[in-house]
Amino acid sequence: MELAYAGNSVPSILVVDDVPANVDILVEHLQYENTHLMVALNGEDAVELANNRLPDLVLLDIMMPGMDGYEVCKRLKSKPETMNIPVIFVTARGENYDEARGLALGAIDYITKPYNISILKARVRNHLEMKKKTDLLNHLASIDGLTNAPNRRQFDGLLDQEWRRCQRAAKALSVIMIDVDFFKAYNDIYGHGKGDDCLRQLVTIMQAALERPGDVLARYGGEEFVVMLPETTAPQAMAVAEKLRRQVNLLAIPHAASEISDHVSISLGVESCVPTKQSNRSELMDKADKGLYMAKALGRDRCYLNIENVLLESLRRNQ
Ligand code: GH3
Ligand code: MG
Ligand code: MG
Repeated sequence: MELAYAGNSVPSILVVDDVPANVDILVEHLQYENTHLMVALNGEDAVELANNRLPDLVLLDIMMPGMDGYEVCKRLKSKPETMNIPVIFVTARGENYDEARGLALGAIDYITKPYNISILKARVRNHLEMKKKTDLLNHLASIDGLTNAPNRRQFDGLLDQEWRRCQRAAKALSVIMIDVDFFKAYNDIYGHGKGDDCLRQLVTIMQAALERPGDVLARYGGEEFVVMLPETTAPQAMAVAEKLRRQVNLLAIPHAASEISDHVSISLGVESCVPTKQSNRSELMDKADKGLYMAKALGRDRCYLNIENVLLESLRRNQ
């Protein structure tokens, strides 16, 4: 698994300057540094490229016609997607207050022209090394160490994003809460190590069962998992839940202490809604949790979908 540079093996640098000759010098010197180089000749293009391609570093001129470098930096720092991209100003403006302003806007470094190319290259290398470490830390903070599935923290962030996106698009968003049946007893008879193996196998099989790129399975807590299904209605989500349950049964991990089966099984609570300004995502999660509780109470190894979901869905379709 690639952990740094957003999954690319080579870091990418965006060079921004309105004078092509200045760009040429930087490109000429940096192209041997095992980096991928991108170029923008004005501020507007720089912002667009940065948003679409997420470079690992931006070398940014200040004085440009139209949008200047300060404004470019401000825009990058104001968006969650681009705020962590390190920006180095490379500029002829050498006054202390220029530099102070650049750094105050969130730039990581400030290099004045004419610069010494060896020093510039060394600074670029150092900042790329830092970026690699930051990417790695961010990655580690977002996954569960045991199963490598996204953790609850990452899930909450993704759900928040999808909630707002589905609200704008008036699309259904579904979640499935999943809990392993009689897992305490599993640990008790097979040991904690086998229990850990079991959780890893469950994640692998469930992730393989999800088909759309936007579907996310995360480890929500101990032996609890959660699935987010964007643009998915209640009946569709119920079909996914049923597929997950079936796949886990087909895996047939022996469980001699289960009261309902001879192998490991899961219970699932399904819930769906079209997000609105009046509703919130914790309500959706609470309802899915209640559904899970019902699946347990009705005998485990089953999916539960509150009938309200189905009624609301058919109302929507008939509108
Ligand atoms: P139910 O069918 O009602 O869900 O019963 P249960 O035994 O699964 O429920 P309970 O919540 O009492 O037990 C959950 C168990 O999951 C307790 C704990 O030992 C186990 N567990 C939680 N996290 C881990 C883990 O990371 N590794 C292992 N091996 N076991 C874990
Ligand atoms: Mg359990
Ligand atoms: Mg539990």
